[in-house]
Amino acid sequence: MRGSESEREDRAVSRRGVLAAAGVLAGASSMPARARARASGGWDFIVVGAGVFGAWTAWTLRRRGHSVLLVDAWGAAHSRASSGGETRLIRTEYAGNALYTRWAWESLTEWHALSKRLGSPIFHETGALYLYPADTAQIDRSIAIQRALDIPIEKLAAPELARRWPQIGLDGIAVGVMQPTMGALMARRSVQALVEAFVAAGGSFRQFAVAPPRSARAALDAVTSADGSALEASHFIFACGPWLPKLFPDVVGARIVPTRQDVFFFAPKAGDGRFGGTKLPAWVDVSSEDLHYGFPDIEGRGFKIALDRHGPSFDPDRFDRRITDRALAEVRAYLARRFPDLARRPLAEARVCQYENSDNGHLLIDRHPGWSNCWIAGGGSGHGFKHGPAVGRYVADLVLGTGRAEPAFALAAHRIHGEAEERS
Ligand SMILES: Cc1cc2nc3c(=O)[nH]c(=O)nc-3n(C[C@H](O)[C@H](O)[C@H](O)COP(=O)(O)OP(=O)(O)OC[C@H]3O[C@@H](n4cnc5c(N)ncnc54)[C@H](O)[C@@H]3O)c2cc1C
Repeated sequence: MRGSESEREDRAVSRRGVLAAAGVLAGASSMPARARARASGGWDFIVVGAGVFGAWTAWTLRRRGHSVLLVDAWGAAHSRASSGGETRLIRTEYAGNALYTRWAWESLTEWHALSKRLGSPIFHETGALYLYPADTAQIDRSIAIQRALDIPIEKLAAPELARRWPQIGLDGIAVGVMQPTMGALMARRSVQALVEAFVAAGGSFRQFAVAPPRSARAALDAVTSADGSALEASHFIFACGPWLPKLFPDVVGARIVPTRQDVFFFAPKAGDGRFGGTKLPAWVDVSSEDLHYGFPDIEGRGFKIALDRHGPSFDPDRFDRRITDRALAEVRAYLARRFPDLARRPLAEARVCQYENSDNGHLLIDRHPGWSNCWIAGGGSGHGFKHGPAVGRYVADLVLGTGRAEPAFALAAHRIHGEAEERS
């Protein structure tokens, strides 16, 4: 893998002091709004939302030498944030989508670099195994995309799957795709550690609940809280995950719909190491109608399993997070088929989280149509976490005017959920 952007920026930052002293820091004089915000005591950038997208964006901008304030109403990767879970899968098997394959691969380098910087593991290289009901041309296309990027990948027929992982029931599985260098990111811990690193690098963090922004001008001057206190900056980035529709009801609205997702952790038998991270990879079962996925027992939390089916729409502020007996029964029925030795094991823990779904599963990252200095980043849609480093870099490039916008992420490319049905 190439050197990480953080490592390259370490080198850039060491040169930055010299360049700044000489008054030649790129972009420093090309931002009149920035000068205005500085004069009034504001920041170059305020990033609202300290989930994975906001934290990586704030970190990247700070590493490029800008003054950045990161704010969150409840704190980094708190228990109701989409980034507040225990683990998130990183994989490059992406149904042949070249952009997300590349972003996941590049992000892995950054996650490794962050892990090294922190000196504590935030990534477990368990491998990631996709289980498919049939061998298809799309699988081969996806593998070809990964091989072109030098991503280690193996295609395995069912007998080889059975030999390597006898603890998996392979009923209905024809082929597997194993990505040995992928695995599990420690979600909550990595985001919280990243925010600490951001502050240690000179960034500012404040707990602050931002009210839906208002401005009669063509730009935003400040964000305010419900009690009227204001924070000024030259640029604003809103990375508020499932809260984006509440902050921007007109612009985002039902372009992002949060849905309830139940997650279960089961306790393997005492002394049974077959479901630990050295014996079992993280896995995704594409054979079930609603895609099940899970993780081995990592750091003693238990064997994690969840269903990727979008649950009912979910208000992240108002709803209690209690799993239902029905969801638990469904998961046990699935375990009986795929991981029979876990089907009757006790439930060790359960969580309710929410996806923040765009209509087509693509990220939503764009400039606010009315305010030239305001950007929106979200729409992780159940697969966004791994891309945190790539999102941070992409947003930083866009707001600094050095990046090319990806059409699939634009507001205009995202329909409002239910729009098509209403029209027909
Ligand atoms: C159960 C589950 C499993 C998942 N599995 C995977 C996986 O395996 N792999 C993967 O890559 N992705 C996965 N995802 C998706 C991924 O976790 C999310 O896409 C990602 O975490 C979204 O991050 P975010 O920064 O956009 O949002 P969040 O993490 O929700 O962060 C938004 C932040 O904005 C703050 N905020 C909101 N409103 C305000 C306000 N008014 N003022 C101040 N702060 C505010 C919130 O407090 C919050 O901290 C999964 C998601 C879930 C729920």
